[in-house]
Amino acid sequence: MTAHILSGKEVAAVVRADVTSQVAELAQVGYHVGLATLLVGDDPASHVYVSYKHKDAKAAGINSIDVQLPASATQADVLAAVDELNHREDVTGMIVQLPLPDGLDGEAAVERVLPGKDADGLHPFNLGRMLLGRPGPLPATPSGVMTILGHYGIATAGVTAVVVGRSFLVGKPMALLLGAKGADATVVQAHSRTPDLAAVCRTADILVTAVGRPGMFTADFVKPGAVVIDVGTNRTDDGLVGDVAFDEVVEVASAITPVPGGVGPMTRASLLANTVMLAHRSRTAT
Ligand code: NAP
Repeated sequence: MTAHILSGKEVAAVVRADVTSQVAELAQVGYHVGLATLLVGDDPASHVYVSYKHKDAKAAGINSIDVQLPASATQADVLAAVDELNHREDVTGMIVQLPLPDGLDGEAAVERVLPGKDADGLHPFNLGRMLLGRPGPLPATPSGVMTILGHYGIATAGVTAVVVGRSFLVGKPMALLLGAKGADATVVQAHSRTPDLAAVCRTADILVTAVGRPGMFTADFVKPGAVVIDVGTNRTDDGLVGDVAFDEVVEVASAITPVPGGVGPMTRASLLANTVMLAHRSRTAT
């Protein structure tokens, strides 16, 4: 068996086209969508990610506002920058690019963002609404995974899903979304303390890997015919690779996301979808 390749690029293009048309409709009624990013310090990967976000926003017709602070910024500087963006009318959504440099509290910075401008869906208020199954911006990466599964008609109801990783950014919300009413998977959340991880993973009809270890998930972690979603993004001498040993797992799984070109592009597209959703909400609230 050779797995079907689940192209996040392809799904992202569909989402971006929808966002672009919604942004244009809003502009026609005089409402302009604006996405701000707050970047602190010199982390090269963060600079790359932020530049992609601006490129995507501009391509969708969203005004993009780039605020940068030096690595020497204090927590008070960061919170003041968030406050300023909270008050700007041209900023309808924003993200604080994580991680912040050592010594700064990224979670506190995210918590300072007005929930109605939280384009990353990471504010505790929005995470709480997700827990309650209420609508709102969802964390971009797990939301993107759900969109990929939906686009390719992969059923989640009644299947066993194993999510490896339990960060608040990916693993935890991923498990919640797969197990939510409507998605209805039976979810196992695995992590670094899970004994016999390979055996646990082999129970999965849908295996989501969000660990950050290049090529860790070899064919013996995968039940034949499983759907494998590789969230891992690892920069190695061989370039960008996932957590999954793609070349061997592609022969065992029924479907698999590649790295690059899988979950990454959908994360970016989900951010835009959150941004336009917040704009609609803010417009109808005023
Ligand atoms: P993280 O905060 O470092 O969390 C990693 C998780 O993996 C933790 O829960 C950890 O378990 C678990 N883990 C680590 N080693 C393990 C092992 N040997 N066996 C089982 N579990 C293990 O990372 P993250 O922010 O969730 O990101 C995970 C990966 O996804 C990274 O490669 C990141 O770059 C990537 N990512 C990609 C996108 C995208 O758009 N494609 C977006 C976000 C993140 P413990 O909790 O027990 O420590």
